[in-house]
Amino acid sequence: MDKETFRKFGHEFVDWVVDYLDSVEDYPVRAQIKPGETLNRLPDSAPLVGESMEHIFKDFREIILPGMTHWQHPSWFAYFPANNSPPSILAELLTAGMGAQCMIWETSPAAAELEEKVLEWLRQMLGLPEGMNGVIQDTASTTTLVALLTAREKATGFKSNRKGFQEKLFVYVSEEAHSSVEKGAKIAGYGTDNIRRIPADENFAMIPAHLEAAIVADKKRNLKPACVVATVGTTSSSGIDPLKPIGEICRSYGLYLHVDAAYAGTAAILPEKKWMLEGVEHVDSFNFNPHKWMLTNFDCSVHFVKDPGSLIRTFEIHPEYLKTDVDALVKNYRDWGIQLGRRFRALKLWFVIRSYGIEGLQKVVRKHIHLAELFKGWIEEHELFEIVAPVHLSLVCFRLNDSRSEEELNILNRELIERINQTGKVLLTQTTLKGKFVLRMAIGSRTTEERHVHQAWEIIVSMAKDILGKNNVNI
Ligand SMILES: *Cc1c(COP(=O)(O)O)cnc(C)c1O
Repeated sequence: MDKETFRKFGHEFVDWVVDYLDSVEDYPVRAQIKPGETLNRLPDSAPLVGESMEHIFKDFREIILPGMTHWQHPSWFAYFPANNSPPSILAELLTAGMGAQCMIWETSPAAAELEEKVLEWLRQMLGLPEGMNGVIQDTASTTTLVALLTAREKATGFKSNRKGFQEKLFVYVSEEAHSSVEKGAKIAGYGTDNIRRIPADENFAMIPAHLEAAIVADKKRNLKPACVVATVGTTSSSGIDPLKPIGEICRSYGLYLHVDAAYAGTAAILPEKKWMLEGVEHVDSFNFNPHKWMLTNFDCSVHFVKDPGSLIRTFEIHPEYLKTDVDALVKNYRDWGIQLGRRFRALKLWFVIRSYGIEGLQKVVRKHIHLAELFKGWIEEHELFEIVAPVHLSLVCFRLNDSRSEEELNILNRELIERINQTGKVLLTQTTLKGKFVLRMAIGSRTTEERHVHQAWEIIVSMAKDILGKNNVNI
């Protein structure tokens, strides 16, 4: 591609992105295609001769776009958000333009030092203990795996790295923990049979007394507890494990404590939500995803550690071809995680934080929390709906309940969510809480306003009416 064509399409694509984000509301939230549809519209093999960008862009609009689900839609209420923002997108453009591979300090010094500084800003913003060091990983799943590996090494005196796994180690999580802990325990060699699932209370938070009992019981049988993964903001219901008692238990039994705050961590920038992290001084590592709720393009997951030494000792490797003269003076982030090659992710985070400012980010998060409270109020007022979990942040778990049997309610609510999502106007996802099938309304798109939440509520009520039958006078 010649320079002028590059420039022309560069301008055109920026225009396209601006217009797309401005009108994304007009698309159905969920892709309206069937499995295989995109596949069948694509040629079976690559073109021998290069094609024009006009042609490629046309196919992007006609083949790819209709098969996309629109995560930046203001009526995106599914999973958790993965919100982006103009400053983040602009930074991604520069990142792509420089095409730097930031594996060690020397390969991109400013990238390494910007990462260090921006993460120190974030540490302060969240109120994490002084002296905690940050590194950017790709996702929360990777961070949990990295934490499990570090915990494994600490528990074995850094022997399993050399000798392989010699003894069984145990991991403790709440029954509400994310599936990535199970995946991490598989990969890190703990084995899924050696995960202890600690019961959660009626607020879906880990019960510390049960945690302690499980650790004591295992120790009595000469088994070796190694790691606890606590969750601040569980995926199903935003349940918050109490870090203080859990941390004290970990300290007294010498266990590694990792905190997964993938979604909820962003809310810790609000003074009124700092209570979620009470006891965080006890944790060994802490993770949250700016790519979920902090307006930073996927992927960007932030990992803070109390003792970088054990992390580095777990991952470091010193082949001749990676040695440099400044190794002793700088941070080489290749030793802070799994991959060698690293993207320049700090740039977009820096752009976002500077462009919004702490207050600007707080405003966005507060708006989402406010909208969730509003929605919660409508649910509570309606006699056919009920709230199923405490609303700590911007996630509301609810269901239709007309007092039929639990089994029938599960069927009813399953039908309800499918009807709601079929409208294409909103997208919600579901979960089960203590055996109940519930709908999750997760608010966090940058452009979501009250009217979008209200429209969702109207659709929910109208679909519920449809299902229950128009002769039901209660609605
Ligand atoms: C979303 C989520 C994850 C997974 O995040 P990835 O970055 O996609 O790996 C892990 N834990 C919790 C609590 C989450 O909400």
